Amino acid sequence: MRFHAPITDMKFLLFDVLHADELQGMEKYQEATPDVLVAIMEAMGSFAADVLQPTNKVGDVQGCSFDAQTRAVSTPQGFREAYQQFAQAGWTSLDAPVRFGGQGLPHVLKFIVDEMVCSTNLSLGMYAGLSHGAISALYSHGDSRLQDIYLPRLVSGEWTGTMCLTEPQCGTDLGLIRTRATPNDDGTYSIEGTKIWITGGEHDLADNIVHLVLAKLPGMPDTTKGISLFVVPKFFPDSGDRNAVYCGGLEHKMGIKGSSTCVMNFEGARGWLVGEPNDGMRAMFTMMNEARLMVGMQGLGLAEMAFQESLAFAHERLQSRSPAGPANPDGPADPIIVQPDVRRMLMRQKVLNEGMRALALFTGHQLDLSVAHPDAAARQAADDLVQLLTPVVKAFLTDEGFNNTNMGLQVLGGSGFTTDWPLEQLVRDGRIARIYEGTNGIQAMDLVGRKLSLAGGRLINTPFELLDNYLQQHSGAPFADPLKDSIAALKEATLWIATHGPQDPEQAAAAATPYLRLMALTVIAYLWSRMAMVATECMASGAGNHSWFKGKQTSAQFYFEKLLPENRWLLSDITSGKESVMGVSGDQW
Ligand SMILES: Cc1cc2nc3c(=O)[nH]c(=O)nc-3n(C[C@H](O)[C@H](O)[C@H](O)COP(=O)(O)OP(=O)(O)OC[C@H]3O[C@@H](n4cnc5c(N)ncnc54)[C@H](O)[C@@H]3O)c2cc1C
Repeated sequence: MRFHAPITDMKFLLFDVLHADELQGMEKYQEATPDVLVAIMEAMGSFAADVLQPTNKVGDVQGCSFDAQTRAVSTPQGFREAYQQFAQAGWTSLDAPVRFGGQGLPHVLKFIVDEMVCSTNLSLGMYAGLSHGAISALYSHGDSRLQDIYLPRLVSGEWTGTMCLTEPQCGTDLGLIRTRATPNDDGTYSIEGTKIWITGGEHDLADNIVHLVLAKLPGMPDTTKGISLFVVPKFFPDSGDRNAVYCGGLEHKMGIKGSSTCVMNFEGARGWLVGEPNDGMRAMFTMMNEARLMVGMQGLGLAEMAFQESLAFAHERLQSRSPAGPANPDGPADPIIVQPDVRRMLMRQKVLNEGMRALALFTGHQLDLSVAHPDAAARQAADDLVQLLTPVVKAFLTDEGFNNTNMGLQVLGGSGFTTDWPLEQLVRDGRIARIYEGTNGIQAMDLVGRKLSLAGGRLINTPFELLDNYLQQHSGAPFADPLKDSIAALKEATLWIATHGPQDPEQAAAAATPYLRLMALTVIAYLWSRMAMVATECMASGAGNHSWFKGKQTSAQFYFEKLLPENRWLLSDITSGKESVMGVSGDQW
């Protein structure tokens, strides 16, 4: 089916719930009027359905191909044309700095656009997605010479970027990197080593590929402290000559087959240092944090497409009769949407998808406030929330995005398992998002092991203040009691980790994944309460579609009754400690 952009929900969140229209009052975002934002959202809705979606299945069936003689990679049929249109329409430059040809629009708009790109063609979207991270790393850490050379052409989409971290012996633990950078007399470096699983490492979509590469200077130790970041172009921007970086082959994967995943050999390639020597991880984290948020949108985007497909199927597929008596007496059977068990699956998809979208756009909006708000304290609070929620968005949206995509497949029964329907591709494509950009287990470790203790615990106090203030200011807020209960559970879990973690880090590590999930469910509960409250206000004012707002209220009820109660189980998982996790050993396995 043709993708239907969920613009109504996006507008509701952006303007009615988050009040993102206030961004235009901040100097940085004067251009971001509601009219502009809506026009861009609608334009992407059409572009995604007309240009991106038609090449999605071709990308899956054909995949990328590698020519061992020329060491070139070809993308699937139609990708090159679709990418050119994507770049020419300005989709690569949306929130990029104006100084380098970008449009300087709010990040939250980019989140919205990313979701639609991922709904319709994740593989194609990955090429531009990695470029975006490269732009941020160079913008934040590169010197002006590097910025002037690379940023305009990355921003325009004329060139694409990569992120080269992983090597055969190191994925999570980047301290084990072996790629070496030897200084040359002219201030450049010779880069030697092999990187694996590099997204967009080689392809035929753009004229040049700009690799951002982690490598070690001579004599540096086997820890993340000794890592530096280099920019290594495929072709030198001044001469156009070929640099000594080549694709050594493609990975054969279960999904995102249109995205080239490459072994990259650096054979004495010439590179330029980005930022300070041995400070590469800091620069790379700029890129990774951004990429983590984008990967979260991948999970949501695929789940949204799966929901649309399964909802349409449930309306059309005639099987059995409703337990309440025939709903389609003139037909041979009733549509399966009348079955409570099918409803359960559809409601779970709808309510979690909308909750995840709320969490993502809330985080995107905070990102904008963290750079544009005139008040320094407000900027700091927004930045705290973004830092804290980045691993939550990445992990929860990809875990639950995948689960919802899988649930969409279940609604289709046997049809979902066949390649005649798009569900099986969506499931395969979505599986990787829980793994790359740091596995979801590592996101949870980042939250518990790093973020909770940052700035003397200030980060974690920020959402508690926000949630407590909300309940104080809105004593009659919808679902206030279960929300209060969830906040209490999250506070208890936080205290448990703060008490047990410092003496025994295994306790904190064993609690990390359920803790991240508890935080996600609680923040989403706060957002569902707000959404239900705004829906009630809109209904009372007579604004908008009454029936749509009623659906929002019922969805909030489903969230609080059927989904949020998992929080009590999560709290018990956390506070029961590590014993049963770590206790089995030797032949007990
Ligand atoms: C399709 C695809 C595209 C990719 N694109 C890129 C790219 O563009 N650039 C790039 O550099 N890399 C890329 N990667 C690599 C990806 O980022 C890594 O696969 C990922 O970071 C995990 O590393 P690993 O696979 O080596 O797993 P490992 O590090 O070996 O981990 C294996 C398991 O152990 C767990 N684990 C490891 N250490 C810990 C710990 N300290 N605490 C708790 N659990 C732990 C992990 O969570 C995981 O479940 C890509 C991978 C794929 C498959």
